Amino acid sequence: MPAINWNQQVWNVKTSPKMQMFIWRSLHGALPVGEQLEIRNIVTTTTCCRCNEPESILHLLFHCNFAQKVWKLAPFPQDFISTLITSLNEGLNAVRNQVTLPPVGLDRGKLYPWILWAIWTSRNQKIFENRIFTVEETILKATCDAREWNLAQIPVIGKTRFLSGVNRANHGVGTIVCCTDAAWMMFGASGSAGLGWIFTADEGQVSSYSSAHSFVSSALVAEALAIREALFKAVELGFTSLILQFDSLILIKAINSRSPLLETHGILADIVLIEKSFISLKFNFIPRLDNTVADSVAKQALWAFQSLLG
Ligand SMILES: [Zn+2]
Repeated sequence: MPAINWNQQVWNVKTSPKMQMFIWRSLHGALPVGEQLEIRNIVTTTTCCRCNEPESILHLLFHCNFAQKVWKLAPFPQDFISTLITSLNEGLNAVRNQVTLPPVGLDRGKLYPWILWAIWTSRNQKIFENRIFTVEETILKATCDAREWNLAQIPVIGKTRFLSGVNRANHGVGTIVCCTDAAWMMFGASGSAGLGWIFTADEGQVSSYSSAHSFVSSALVAEALAIREALFKAVELGFTSLILQFDSLILIKAINSRSPLLETHGILADIVLIEKSFISLKFNFIPRLDNTVADSVAKQALWAFQSLLG
């Protein structure tokens, strides 16, 4: 069996740090699947929750009947027969080289981490919350997450963007105020969210943006997503001095005190990272009644999204 190339398999994969960590843990045998738990004497029943075969990481991600069907639905030019894979390393190599067909249109290697992740999370939802995601929902979630993450990767959030922002600041562009809000409701098996952002420059120009997302687990997660997306949007627009206002007391406390908030942990970690792209960034709490414009933009986005989904 060829040795694992960690750079190729993990650290150079163009995906979110969370996905890199997930692949890294899989390759280290560090996902808490039945077989691993049995090795560590944690449990005695170690079978797959879907097919009763022994649950190894390879089984869960590639060999299980459910995984096979998910990979079969993946928008790859050629069917990927996941049962032919003999090791995790081999499986990752095979899927990493797949391009995705239009209209998904993600570059080579950009979708597979999210498919692995969706298989893993749908397994956990089944075991721990007794929520059943179908093969179709699982591949849809992977595609939505991959596209969402890729859209948020504005070219070079780091140095170049930062420098051009500095230049603009020197030319007198002042502080931008952004109000953000989210609307959330249960829809089908999971929640959907509409997010809205209103940017107001000190010269008084106003611009508004919105987006909508499926598989958002709670209203709080939706609010956190709105804050993160507002920051991404601000970076994309070249704003370097920003006051971000929203009406969630829980989140303002969590962000300002840097205290982890379990449900939104990954999103808050992203917020802390992207903060470095600003020269000045403040988070302000505003009462709900002062945030009605962002609220209605978020609601409209949610309604439009739901009518699209039927
Ligand atoms: Zn199985």
